[in-house]
Amino acid sequence: MTTQPIWSGTSFWQQQALAEDGAVSPSLSEDTRADICIVGGGFTGLWTALRLKEQAPDLDIILIEGKQCGAGGSGANAGYALPLWASFPMLQALYGPDEALRLCRASSAALEEIDALSNQHDADIGLARNGVIWGATCSRQAGHWDETVAALERYQIAHYEPLTGADIQQRTGSPAYVAGVLEASGATLHPGRLVRLLRRAVLAAGVRIHENTRMVDLDRARPVSIRTPGGVITADRVVLAIYAWSAGVHELSREIAVICSDAMVSVPQSDAIAAQGWQDGPALFDSRTFTEGTRTTPDGRVLFNKAGGRMALGGNINGALARPGQTSQELRAMLASHMPGLADAPISHAWSGAVDRTRSGLPMFGRLPGSPHILYGFGYSGRGILTTVVGSRILAALTLETDDAWASSGFVQEPQRAYPPEPLRFVGGWAVRRAIARKDALDHEDRNTGPVTTALYNLKPGRWNRAQKSS
Ligand SMILES: Cc1cc2nc3c(=O)[nH]c(=O)nc-3n(C[C@H](O)[C@H](O)[C@H](O)COP(=O)(O)OP(=O)(O)OC[C@H]3O[C@@H](n4cnc5c(N)ncnc54)[C@H](O)[C@@H]3O)c2cc1C
Repeated sequence: MTTQPIWSGTSFWQQQALAEDGAVSPSLSEDTRADICIVGGGFTGLWTALRLKEQAPDLDIILIEGKQCGAGGSGANAGYALPLWASFPMLQALYGPDEALRLCRASSAALEEIDALSNQHDADIGLARNGVIWGATCSRQAGHWDETVAALERYQIAHYEPLTGADIQQRTGSPAYVAGVLEASGATLHPGRLVRLLRRAVLAAGVRIHENTRMVDLDRARPVSIRTPGGVITADRVVLAIYAWSAGVHELSREIAVICSDAMVSVPQSDAIAAQGWQDGPALFDSRTFTEGTRTTPDGRVLFNKAGGRMALGGNINGALARPGQTSQELRAMLASHMPGLADAPISHAWSGAVDRTRSGLPMFGRLPGSPHILYGFGYSGRGILTTVVGSRILAALTLETDDAWASSGFVQEPQRAYPPEPLRFVGGWAVRRAIARKDALDHEDRNTGPVTTALYNLKPGRWNRAQKSS
């Protein structure tokens, strides 16, 4: 019998994690004061709170979250813990080789930090160190990794192991891939449980958390007043850790386009996964611009995710998330093309999450122009599990005004007005999004795109900055 798929605004991970640990911090109900107010209870806000307490234990820190911790991308993501090495050519072009290597190494170290935190708190976050395959499902997309592999070879770094299509089939049972590379240090985890772990650690460190406490206004004078429905917080410094919701901060609104990603999981399927030949195998994602990925979960489900869902007009995330970008039938058909043996897997949960796409595809951290006591960190563009750990070091350094390599990291960047204003961003983004989808489809038919599609495709995030830099 097929289980009816349930599309919901809350991810499978978040539902499962909240069922295991449903503690909710009280919402703010009176005016209060703090040294530092962190807005946003995702990975960025929680890691930053921990860092600040480690470095300055006497600071009085308050963290507010509009819903529950993990209600944003941190509880909705696909759970691939991927270091920054795939972005090495871009990082090198923008910030130079030393900073690029430092950031990549820090992102690898982030996985060890996550593991250490879970051991310290005796928490099971479903960490599976089975590696991740970055592959291609058509010959035109094979070799997307070549530039990265070659750039790393110049530093004697062999981070990726080349695989043939037959190797990938042997490891995962998927006949869909023509070639790829294995990132052996790549891992998967349960993002909902990681959020719960971080939330517990932050509370234990003495940070005051208020959930269901939305910042409705930010007065930029110093000290800052953060208005919430239940009271006003007065703080010397503020850290905005609100990911896609940064589009609602006027100084930051032109830095990102908000585009949702869709995901679904099956009911537990251990036997079918084993029959597919994928038990304990690596996770997989392809080389489409709107990436498709598959992984297994700790309780024996298969997860499938697809980028390039609905766009948020003017940063209206609730509107974009009100309906799925891809129906669960469409997602299931895509899963079947990657994993034919799981084509009949009954789907139990499907959801969408908002992703903040910067033009470079890289995150940015800094101080609001004219308000240096208000910090921001966002723009992870769909790769945040490990990068938020790195970002929290940068945010802590900027908050504490530490004169170190984190405070002067390449990721520290002033707003650039990278995208046009609305409605141009939405209309332009829609056209580029269609061009990307068309090119992904034509690549799989071994056909070329026409000049208009090619021109629009070349405007996609991730290409622009590199072209600017080299021009
Ligand atoms: C569907 C999906 C799949 C992804 N897959 C992966 C993946 O496989 N691997 C990976 O590394 N990354 C992935 N990502 C990206 C990753 O999830 C994010 O980069 C990361 O979670 C960002 O963390 P954050 O804390 O900055 O943002 P969030 O987790 O979004 O936290 C921001 C929080 O701010 C709160 N907030 C917003 N406005 C206000 C306000 N006014 N007042 C109070 N609170 C507010 C929100 O409710 C939210 O909880 C994915 C993202 C999505 C959406």
